[in-house]
Amino acid sequence: MKKSGWTLLSDKREDIERFARDYIDFISYAKTERRVVKYILEKIKGRDDLFVVHNRSKALAIYRKGKRRLTDGIRFVAAHIDAPRIDLKPVSVYDDEQAKVALMETHYYGGIKKYQWVARPISIVGTVVKEDGTRVDIEIGEDEEDPVFTFADLLPHLARKVQYSKNLVEAIPGEKLDLLIGSYHEEKKEDEKEGFSIKKYILDIIKEKYGIDEEDFVSAELEVVPSGKAREVGFDRSMIGAYGHDDRICGFASFRAILDADKTEWPSVVILFDKEEIGSDGNTGAQSFFLEYATLKIMEYEGINRDPLLLRDILFKSQAISADVSAAVNPEWKEVHELKNAPLMGHGIALLKYTGHGGKYGANDAHAEYVALIRRIWNRNNVPWQPAELGKVDEGGGGTVAKFLSRGGIDTIDAGPPLLGMHSPFEIVSKVDLYSSYLAYRVFFEEE
Ligand code: MN
Ligand code: MN
Repeated sequence: MKKSGWTLLSDKREDIERFARDYIDFISYAKTERRVVKYILEKIKGRDDLFVVHNRSKALAIYRKGKRRLTDGIRFVAAHIDAPRIDLKPVSVYDDEQAKVALMETHYYGGIKKYQWVARPISIVGTVVKEDGTRVDIEIGEDEEDPVFTFADLLPHLARKVQYSKNLVEAIPGEKLDLLIGSYHEEKKEDEKEGFSIKKYILDIIKEKYGIDEEDFVSAELEVVPSGKAREVGFDRSMIGAYGHDDRICGFASFRAILDADKTEWPSVVILFDKEEIGSDGNTGAQSFFLEYATLKIMEYEGINRDPLLLRDILFKSQAISADVSAAVNPEWKEVHELKNAPLMGHGIALLKYTGHGGKYGANDAHAEYVALIRRIWNRNNVPWQPAELGKVDEGGGGTVAKFLSRGGIDTIDAGPPLLGMHSPFEIVSKVDLYSSYLAYRVFFEEE
């Protein structure tokens, strides 16, 4: 059943490479959800055939008319554009009196393995909103000339008791993830009374460079992310390594799909959510009514009476792909996969009838009829795809936005490219799986 995507798309090598280059540019820039939204809005400027519904610069719906009427139902591709990361606390900057360095307090966001984040260059990217409402966008650490930050790890010589004897989760507690941001300490005569404070010195620099006061951190969304650009991986350059594939890769692939589709048989919507990594709560997450709201705005745009019962009817007739990444077979950890049902690198988009954990708990579990439709569309269009499950039964598991999409009656299935090292600062994807996902979403919009 599984065929190499490179074989199936052997005549598309140039398209695959071109698409990968565009993606590398995108993912190198899009280090926050706000940046994904900004990138997409920039790219669709002038496309009058697209109608956009915004949600607080962090979630987005893009609509394109279909041959069929809106009241026949919509084809949605839904992805999430948040990614696991580390956030700054509201009261963040402090100096350590004994160690004589300045640090920032953080609180991690989503499922990270904390040991992966220490001892590496770190950037701060995000937005500060001052009391008067002025927005200040910040990016430090991405330009080669910028300084970076880091979480200084403990040397092995002294790690025996406090780290080596513990398990991976406890070896680096969340409260020890404090970002190193300064150490300058020149004792001056005038400081003798009050004492020199590295904290004050650092806050003065921040104030001077960005016009931000200490209290402004309270109304900020500053994300601590791995520094640097995405890279090609392997002698054959067949893979892309980057921070944030999960799930900006599906955001990118689906947005390009709706843009590039030759025609749209069905009214088509790409919807990009925030907050998936922390449970899809909040008014930009998939558990909010944003999808319903966006559909109402689309009804209004199409001149249809915004009748709430008609909205229910439209959603009940709709179909969706929950576009999210899955776990490719890791060569070193095969024991967590059941190999017959685990997606392989380079074998196309992974189709998951269900996700969930421990007896399908929390799964959407798509209906056989709908799975057959998806197979039909992809096979007819030579899209490389593979049936998949997330890990062995009882090994663990995870969810996506699928179950929230399906609440209103939308037929929903999960599909996205398999990754190695998911949720790490350097996630790996095969270029052909990226391209297969793009094709898969595109023909979903194009076909009957
Ligand atoms: Mn995801
Ligand atoms: Mn995730």
